[in-house]
Amino acid sequence: MFISECLNVNSENHLTIGGVDTVSIAKQYGTPLYVMDEGEIRKNCRTYKNAIDAYYGGKGLILYASKAFSCKEIYRIAAEEGLGVDVVSGGEMYTAYKAGFPMDKVYFHGNNKTEAELRMALEYGVGCIVADNLDEIETLDALCAQMGKTVSVIVRIKPGIDAHTHDFIRTGQIDSKFGVALENGEAMDFFEKALLKKNIKMVGIHCHIGSQIFDLAPFEEAGSVMLNFMADVRDRFGLEMTKLNLGGGFGIKYVEGDTPIAYDAYICAVSEVIKKTAAERNMPMPEILMEPGRSIVAPAGITLYTVGNVKEIKDVRTYVSIDGGMGDNPRYILYNADYTALVASKAGDKPSMKITLAGKCCESGDLIGEGMDIQPVEKGDIVAVLATGAYNYSMASNYNRIPRPAVVMVRDGETRVVVKAETYDDILKNDM
Ligand SMILES: *Cc1c(COP(=O)(O)O)cnc(C)c1O
Repeated sequence: MFISECLNVNSENHLTIGGVDTVSIAKQYGTPLYVMDEGEIRKNCRTYKNAIDAYYGGKGLILYASKAFSCKEIYRIAAEEGLGVDVVSGGEMYTAYKAGFPMDKVYFHGNNKTEAELRMALEYGVGCIVADNLDEIETLDALCAQMGKTVSVIVRIKPGIDAHTHDFIRTGQIDSKFGVALENGEAMDFFEKALLKKNIKMVGIHCHIGSQIFDLAPFEEAGSVMLNFMADVRDRFGLEMTKLNLGGGFGIKYVEGDTPIAYDAYICAVSEVIKKTAAERNMPMPEILMEPGRSIVAPAGITLYTVGNVKEIKDVRTYVSIDGGMGDNPRYILYNADYTALVASKAGDKPSMKITLAGKCCESGDLIGEGMDIQPVEKGDIVAVLATGAYNYSMASNYNRIPRPAVVMVRDGETRVVVKAETYDDILKNDM
């Protein structure tokens, strides 16, 4: 009945997550609070992993894109589910390392990795560097020489596919800060130079065409364009690469109108295209990698808030102010993201009010949503905002010196804290 399978309503008409009453969770831990259902996370990991087995003979690896939600516990869960991870900074890499994640299954991304970060990746034995440009290759090769190491590298390609238009506007995508472009020869030039580097082993190519995509076609298109490029590189340089990484970006349901595709359908569609293209170009089937972030964790998370006041401005709108806001969820102020909200104690009732859900920061744009439909809501109610498991905690800030909320994980009817709430002293920790 709700947008995520882990949500339901109990006999008291309260919202539940993973079978646990959210009103009780709010009472026990306080608000604001992030709550995530571990079962939902693991189910999503398995859907992707099983699809690789079912449609591609298991010849692939799902990398959880950890920028969506990064903390030690999520790396432990990804490891237990047999996933790799992608990281985009020293901080994410360090978190994975400290969580005991197998570093040979870490892919390190980023359009401007620092020398210190690259050194750290080599020290930790990160499985693969996703190189963005030739300057990075120079730095990496020199570091390898100093440290007496060689490293596996895949290169980020701009395949010229804009996933958010139906007619794939190719040239527009050259204008991106990430990677090297196909259509102007930059990608081929990259190989020509990178192949001269003694300590770098070019093992594959990568692309990531967007996020919150509800369409199979751009992934099929990317699969074909990318594998054909791998064949072109083989024809030109005699280089046989084994890894084809097609990125993430699979869409999820934030509001009723969203129409996501079953996650395994992406893998199924891409597998078909890869098999066909590999046959056409007389190539062995590459290992495929996919990097879902949002679609693994977003549906598993909700945020619980307490309503402080309801301000009805006649003939204008009704503001409902909560004890969190852009500090814990900056996605509305960043890009007008849509969310579903409901009153946790009346979860089964039909929404009958239209409200603007407002945060507590000194910023008019500090909203979670406008024109949101919700059950009758008043001071003291617990409001749940749904599908906040991705790009909420990971994008949170201390604006207005508001501490970040805790993250509580639900499993088998039990709850536990996986990230503690910050205290005021945590905020002062680095002040001199
Ligand atoms: C952000 C990102 C992802 C994950 O995208 P989602 O939309 O969260 O699935 C995967 N790969 C790369 C390189 C990214 O930057």
